[in-house]
This record gives sequence, structure tokens and C-alpha cells, in this order.
Amino acid sequence: MTKADVKSEMLSKDEKYVWHSMKPYKPDATMVAKSAKGSWITDIDGNRYLDAMSGLWCVNVGYGREELAKAAYEQIKDLSYMPLTQSHEAAIQLGEKINQLLGDDYVIFFSNSGSEANEAAFKMVRQYHQQKGDHYRTKFISRYRAYHGNSTSSLAATGQAQRKYKYEPLGPGFLHVAPPDEYRNEHSEKDRFGAKEIDDVMTWEYSESIAGVIMEPIITGGGVIVPPEQYMKEVQAVCEKHGALMIVDEVICGFGRTGKPFGFMNYGGKPDIITMAKGITSAYLPLSATAVKREVYEAFCGDDTYDFFRHINTFGGHPAACAVALKNIEIMERENLFERSRDLGETAINDLNNRLQNHNHVGNVRGKGLLIGIEMVESKVTKEPLAVEKVNQIIAYCKDKGILIGKNGMTVAGYNNVITLSPPLSIEEEDLTFLLDTVVEAIQSI
Ligand code: PLP
Repeated sequence: MTKADVKSEMLSKDEKYVWHSMKPYKPDATMVAKSAKGSWITDIDGNRYLDAMSGLWCVNVGYGREELAKAAYEQIKDLSYMPLTQSHEAAIQLGEKINQLLGDDYVIFFSNSGSEANEAAFKMVRQYHQQKGDHYRTKFISRYRAYHGNSTSSLAATGQAQRKYKYEPLGPGFLHVAPPDEYRNEHSEKDRFGAKEIDDVMTWEYSESIAGVIMEPIITGGGVIVPPEQYMKEVQAVCEKHGALMIVDEVICGFGRTGKPFGFMNYGGKPDIITMAKGITSAYLPLSATAVKREVYEAFCGDDTYDFFRHINTFGGHPAACAVALKNIEIMERENLFERSRDLGETAINDLNNRLQNHNHVGNVRGKGLLIGIEMVESKVTKEPLAVEKVNQIIAYCKDKGILIGKNGMTVAGYNNVITLSPPLSIEEEDLTFLLDTVVEAIQSI
């Protein structure tokens, strides 16, 4: 069979057997990956692509690390499975390591995906309030434009109508407020950051009916919305005032993406619950975690048969995934990838700003660490989002040059007008230069 025959057979079987996520199926736009190393993916035709999105914002240490393959192999050889109704060494060590990174006293519940980590958090928060005698505290507040997962409650918390309206009714009890978008400035002068809106909604809804707030430190998929410095602390103070718990979704922001071990560390404060996934294993294996402050956890330790957390997860905290996570974190620390993300990100954002700020269609360049958004507009004055076809033209230009940007390479975050860059934290400096030069060229080409 020729190479072309192999590809065409592969694509026709792909069309027949594989249901793709988040895009209409287009055989000619589908890249069938064969292998990957560092920041580069090779497809079955031998074409190479620089992965400027780290997959789905997750391959933080880059592809093809033998150390991680070995960690999984060794763990499977020794102990291939043990549910966390019992325990195993890799989970214990990983729990300790996450605590060390968080710098505080958290108890860790393991699952397999970001959605599950958030789902567990919602259940924990509701049960916590029940056990404290606060029977009305069932509602959660999240922000429009944020994404929190695909399950019925995490999708209910999501603030992107297009992703949810065909699946309704979703889990009840989820309210939304505007995000702290400084560029579009959706809040009044008195409430520049939106924390007051959360305070007001809690009061209007009746304080004692609010269970918690869920927020990403920086809204990622919804358009890389970087909040003002004081926003998170203000929201935390509002939660304390109303007796609500604060859940911080670190599924993307965690593990160095924003230049710190966790995104909230850029802003201070101590969330009650922190959820994490993706970068925890750099996506070498599925794993997620819900880290819960000890004071909250203690509400689940009473003598009553119904006090414990009645939630079970067959694969959550799988020994191989935990072993890989430990090795992955070791690599990040050994190679100073958190600091690298901070420094390379700062340089990249400054460089893009210098080169693009006067461009007619560039509204705003922003980000933190290697989490970067370029907001494209029709006009700098009206801020009308750039037409999707033109945004897709930019993405297609980059793909032609061998760079994958934007979600699935074809759609982008925000109002479909924010180009996102989220390369591996280990990206070589010359590859980053190639990426930035190409993105600038692509934008100048429209
Ligand atoms: N939270 C955030 C912020 C995410 O971006 C995602 C996925 O992209 C999730 C939660 C859900 O994670 P998963 O796809 O692993 O279920």
C-alpha cells in the first residue's frame, strides 16, 4: 500500500468509527497523529506540527518523555490497580506532593477528569452545608464565558450557552454573573471587577441559599480573561461574608500554566476547594484531583453512617496515573518549568503587544505565563468581534506553516475571536520565536 492509500483507509475508518468532539467532521481537516516529541507532533503523512495548544492545554512537559512511560510501566508491574476505598503508595505520595505545592493543609480526592473533579466538589460543598445544618445552601455562582466540564452539573456551572442549550435541563441551582473582563469592561465604575455583583446576587438570592462560588483564576477557554489583581481576594471576602465556600477550578491554570504552581497563587488567598486535572500528568494518563481544606473535610468525619462522602470512582487515583503525576511534577520542578512559563510568557506577551498593538484588528493581547490570548476585533473602537471566517483564516495560515493554534485547530475561545496560545512549558525558545513570528505574520495577512 502506498502512503496515500494508508491515509485514505485510515480516514475512511476514522469517519466510520470515531466520533470527534467539538467540531463537524471534515476528513480533509483531520490530522491523524502518529507520534510526538517535545512540542512537535508528526502525522501519518510525515508532516510535523508545532503544538501551540499543548493538546487541550494539557501537555505541560511536552510529548514523548521516556521517564513518564517508565513510571507507568514500573507501577503497573508492581501494582496495576487498587481502588481508593483502600490506599496505595503512589496516591499517598501524590497527596503529600500536592499539599506541598499548595503550601497548606488539604485532603485530596482523586478522579479521572476535570469534569469529575468539579462534580465531586459540588457534591462535597452541598453535603458539607447539609452536615453543618445549613439545609438551604444549595446554589452555586459561576461566571459567564467560563467552562467547567461536560457532566450535567459542571456544564450547568459553565457560562457558555452554545455548549449547553441542547442538553437542558441540566443540574438546577447554578447562577451566573459577568466575568471580570477589563477589555470589554462589563461592570460599572463602582464595581469595576465584578466582586460586588457576586455580593449583590448572594444578597438578592438570600445569603443562606448560597452553597459556593466556582471560578478559574483566569478564564481560559472562554477567552483568556485575566482578572484585575484584587478580584479573587475580593470574591473570597464576599464568600466569607455570606458563608459560601470558594471552589477554584485549576484544571487548566494549575501546574505552571500561569507561571506559578497554581493560578490562584498569582492573586493570593486560600480557596476552600481546588480542582485540578490536565497538567497534573501532562495528559500522559487521565487523572484529576479535588483538594479540600481540612476544616471542610472534617465535616465528613462524624460518627453518623451518613456523614462520609458517598461518592465512588472506580479508576480515580489509579496507581499508574498517580505514579506518572509524581514523575511529571518532579520533571517540572527539576527543569524549573513554572518559572520558565512565567518568564517566557512575559517576554512573549510583551513581544506580541509591541508588534501587534497598532494593528487594526487586534483589540487586546493578554495572559499570564504561557497562557496567552489575542482578542481580534473588526474595529478597535466598537470592539465588535472579528468575523469567524477571518479568525479561521489566521488559524489556517498557521496550520499551513506547521503550527496548531486555537482549540482543535479550527475554533477559538471567547466570542470565537480570541486566538489562544498555550504551548508546552518546555517549548524550546527558537520554537517559541517561530510560533510568535508566524502568528504575527498570520494576523498581518488578513
Ligand atoms: N474545567 C476547565 C477550566 C476546563 O478547561 C475543562 C476542560 O477543558 C474542564 C474543567 C473539564 O475537564 P475534562 O475535559 O478533563 O473533563
